[in-house]
Amino acid sequence: MKHYDAIIVGAGSMGMAAGYYLAKQGIATLLIDASDPPHQLGSHHGDTRIIRHAYGEGERYVPLTIRAKELWRELEEESGQTLFVQTGVLNAGPAPIPFIQQVRQSAERFSLPMEVLAADELSRRWPGIQVPDDFIGCFEPTSGVLYSEECIRAYRRLALRHGAELLTYERVKEIQARPDGAVVVTGQGAYSCDKLLVSAGAWNPDLLSPLGLSLPLTPTRKTVSWYDADEELYREGRFPAFIFQLPDAAYYGFPSIAWAGVKIGRHDGGLPVHPDELDRTFGTDPADEADTRSFLERFMPRAAGPLRQGRVCLYTFTPDEDFIIDQHPAYRHIVIAAGFSGHGFKFASAVGEAASQLLLHGASVHNLSPFAINRWQREAQG
Ligand SMILES: Cc1cc2nc3c(=O)[nH]c(=O)nc-3n(C[C@H](O)[C@H](O)[C@H](O)COP(=O)(O)OP(=O)(O)OC[C@H]3O[C@@H](n4cnc5c(N)ncnc54)[C@H](O)[C@@H]3O)c2cc1C
Repeated sequence: MKHYDAIIVGAGSMGMAAGYYLAKQGIATLLIDASDPPHQLGSHHGDTRIIRHAYGEGERYVPLTIRAKELWRELEEESGQTLFVQTGVLNAGPAPIPFIQQVRQSAERFSLPMEVLAADELSRRWPGIQVPDDFIGCFEPTSGVLYSEECIRAYRRLALRHGAELLTYERVKEIQARPDGAVVVTGQGAYSCDKLLVSAGAWNPDLLSPLGLSLPLTPTRKTVSWYDADEELYREGRFPAFIFQLPDAAYYGFPSIAWAGVKIGRHDGGLPVHPDELDRTFGTDPADEADTRSFLERFMPRAAGPLRQGRVCLYTFTPDEDFIIDQHPAYRHIVIAAGFSGHGFKFASAVGEAASQLLLHGASVHNLSPFAINRWQREAQG
């Protein structure tokens, strides 16, 4: 059986980044993926992901998103590719909503550039937007959009250049934890290692339960759509990426990049599903189009043109929508990166770095305490 310093099970957003940081330090690393990343079956497809820094989900994320951005810039330099476009990100909603308050607080606390605009200023600045009078907009000019599939492709190319091995179309069927390592069994073979990262996205519960970890992870069917839009109003360069936090729903979207149309998705809700049983046909649920179209008709009417395309994707929610990045409580040489709850991609570079540090040193320079496995036990006790 071939032996490695480290094996990564699931070479998607988080796993591929971790593989790069390990291989770059000379660690003999094997990445194993059930598909051929980047691909259309997990959580990272659809071309683009928003990266923002003033974080409505809480200030605890801000240092990690700042570090992630630095690492994306480094990846751009090393790969010679453009992976980030600075569209700016607009957070909008009724002023008292906690998400909007958190955005403002994080900007103040970390001195992030931010413009706060009243409703009438919003539609003067971006005539494609119409909002009620009680809305405000918090515009982060230095945030923007990552080309998610290109990011994974860049990490993959460089990880291999630094000596990592990658097995594609090889699904891990079993992980055998040993006191000083692990054995990973696939349909094609078995491989042993000293350190192991489990980063299999929506399939994490299947791999973690046999390791004695029943984590509250809920894989969920999500959709995203592209609409014909008035390019003069909504094209990249004129219009920002956006998050609209409404009292009963949350939407995110992208300007029309390279005439692709405005891309938009709903963040909350979705149908819990096992990823192997996912209905991947866009439109089987009428809400696939109806939700985002009604949002556009209300807030961005000239972006509500004919539907160009729709895709089905997977979120993996935790109950608090915070991530899980931690060592296995019983096997400290096994690290878990899971439950990215629909907002993880922007952090993939920093999560890859953190996971590699946890694997190699048992600790990370990042504060990972909000992402600890035992937080539900702590809540139950406290
Ligand atoms: C529509 C949509 C929009 C989003 N928008 C944003 C956004 O704007 N900003 C943001 O920051 N985040 C966003 N996210 C969230 C972000 O994309 C995810 O949090 C992130 O991609 C999760 O990464 P992951 O590594 O956990 O999963 P993945 O990238 O899916 O990687 C998991 C990998 O594991 C592999 N795998 C699974 N099982 C096995 C097995 N048994 N053996 C071997 N390999 C296996 C899979 O093939 C896959 O390659 C969005 C997500 C979706 C779906």
